[in-house]
Amino acid sequence: MVDALILGGGLAGSAAACLIARGGKKVSLLERETGPHHKVCGEFLSIEAINHLHQLGVDPLALGAVPIGRIRLVQGHCEIEAALPFTALGLSRYTLDEALIRKAEMSGAHIQRGVRVLELNGHIARTAQGEYEGRQVLLATGKLPIREQGVALPGRIEDGFIGFKMHYRLAPIAAEQLAGTIMLALFNGGYAGLQLVGRGRANLCLLLRRKTFLRLGGEWGAVCEWLESSPIVQRMLANAEPLFEKPVAIANLTYGRPSRDHTSAKVLSLGDRWAMTPSLTGDGMAIALRSAFLAAHCVLSGHDAPIYHNLLASQTHRQIARAMTIQNGLELPVLRFAAYYLARLHPKILTRVVEATRLPFWHNTL
Ligand SMILES: Cc1cc2nc3c(=O)[nH]c(=O)nc-3n(C[C@H](O)[C@H](O)[C@H](O)COP(=O)(O)OP(=O)(O)OC[C@H]3O[C@@H](n4cnc5c(N)ncnc54)[C@H](O)[C@@H]3O)c2cc1C
Repeated sequence: MVDALILGGGLAGSAAACLIARGGKKVSLLERETGPHHKVCGEFLSIEAINHLHQLGVDPLALGAVPIGRIRLVQGHCEIEAALPFTALGLSRYTLDEALIRKAEMSGAHIQRGVRVLELNGHIARTAQGEYEGRQVLLATGKLPIREQGVALPGRIEDGFIGFKMHYRLAPIAAEQLAGTIMLALFNGGYAGLQLVGRGRANLCLLLRRKTFLRLGGEWGAVCEWLESSPIVQRMLANAEPLFEKPVAIANLTYGRPSRDHTSAKVLSLGDRWAMTPSLTGDGMAIALRSAFLAAHCVLSGHDAPIYHNLLASQTHRQIARAMTIQNGLELPVLRFAAYYLARLHPKILTRVVEATRLPFWHNTL
C-alpha cells in the first residue's frame, strides 16, 4: 500500500503527487488518458496559479506562455477595456498538464497512465487493471463525478452548463488586436473567452446552458453562427483556421458547491472534484493548485481529510461565493446590461472585479 494514492493526473493530482513525493512519501498516481490531451479550459493563468507553478518548479513562460495584461468586455457592438491588476498568462493545457505530470514523475511519484478508475470504495480504487490502495486517497478526477461506494452516478443535469474549447490560427490582424488581452463576450445564455495561448494560436472557450445549446440546434456549426451574431467576435474570427477537427466539449457542469459529501477521513477531494468556481474568473486552475498544496501539507503532517476540507473551504469559499454572484447576475439580461454600462462609465470597475475574485495569499511552507 502506498502512502498516497492519487486518482487523476490533471493540475491538482500532478501537483499534489509532486509535493508529496518530494516530502519523502510513497505516491502512486492513476490517470485514465495514455498521453497529453486537450481539456475544456479558457487557459488563462491567473497570478495565483502562476505563483503556485513557480513554487512547483514549472515556468509557464519557458513552456511558451504569452502575457496578458488587459481585459476586454464585449457586448454586441460595444467593447470596454481595462488593465488587469496583474500580468496573467495564456498557455495551452495540453502543454501545461503534461509538464506537470512529468514534474511529478521526476519528483519520484509512480505515474500510471491509461488506468481508468471505475469506482472508489473507501481507500480502494477499482480499475480494469485491478485494485489499488492508499493509506490516503486524493480524488483529483476533475469536473465529472466517478462512482463512489456503490452509489450510482447522477443522471443528466437539465440546467447544467456545456463547455467547449476550440483553438484557431487567427488572421495576423486579429492576432495583433488580441495580443496581451483576454476578451470576454457576454451573450444571452452563456459567455465566451478568447485569448492567445501561443504565437498566433488563440483559444476560444465557450460556456452555454444546456437549454441554450439545444435551442440553437445542438450543433457546433450553429453555435459558431450564434457566436458570430456578435460583430466583434465575428471580426476576431474572420479567416481564422480551426486547429481541431471538432471542439473539445464537456457537459453536465455545475458550479459553486462542493460536489460530494466530504465524510471519509481518508479521501481528500482536490480541484474541480472539490468544487468548481465560475470559469469567468479564470481561477479554477489556481484553486486546483491551491488544493494540491493544502492536501500535500495535510498528508505530510499526518492530518486527515476533514482538516484538509475545512482548510480548503476557508481558503476558497469567498472566491467561489463572489464568482457565483457575478455569474448568476450576468445571466439576467437587465443586470448584464446594467453591469456593462456601469463598467463603460468606469472601466476601472473591471479591474476591481478581477481583484475581488482572487484567492487569499497562502504562505507556502512546503
Ligand atoms: C469552460 C471552462 C473554462 C475554464 N477556464 C479557465 C481559465 O481560463 N482559467 C482557469 O484557471 N480555470 C479555468 N477553468 C477551470 C479549470 O479548467 C479547472 O478548474 C481545472 O482544470 C481543475 O483541475 P483538476 O486537476 O481538478 O481537474 P482536471 O484538469 O479536469 O484533471 C482531472 C484529470 O483526471 C483524469 N480522470 C478523470 N476521470 C478519471 C478516472 N475515472 N480515472 C483516472 N483518471 C481520471 C482526467 O483525464 C484528467 O487528467 C475553466 C473551466 C471550464 C469548464
